[in-house]
Amino acid sequence: MIEGLTLTKTHLRLLNALLVEADEEEGVAILFGAPDEDPQHWIIEPLFNEAAAHEAHKRCEVTIEQLQPVLERQRAAGRDIQAWWHSHPSGAAIPSETDHANDEVPLMLISSGATLKYESQRHRAWWVEPGERAAEVPMGFGSPS
Ligand SMILES: [Zn+2]
Repeated sequence: MIEGLTLTKTHLRLLNALLVEADEEEGVAILFGAPDEDPQHWIIEPLFNEAAAHEAHKRCEVTIEQLQPVLERQRAAGRDIQAWWHSHPSGAAIPSETDHANDEVPLMLISSGATLKYESQRHRAWWVEPGERAAEVPMGFGSPS
């Protein structure tokens, strides 16, 4: 587990925009970075939640056809998946039971559409490993870029 996570104001603006764009659906994105790279240099790749198009809310689905070119492009640049982001349109930014079943990347960022007035509760980071309860990772947004 990591001690904490400091992203940039630019990351914050993008996450806010993705949260608004996703509206009542779950937004989804991946944060890419090189191994041991400062998270302030991570790149957010927004993805399309394909469950949103054909199912009622509360699901997140990204096909391999969508994911593959993004992975290839980022890996060619020396980056790999550092964290997953998704939104909870009407719930708090805490992991759901489904999120606890995640067995891929342990660092999970969740944004809540229900707390737009309370910035400190809007975007939260969690360390989620199979068989363990999620632990919150202190997250902040530091320098402008
Ligand atoms: Zn979730």
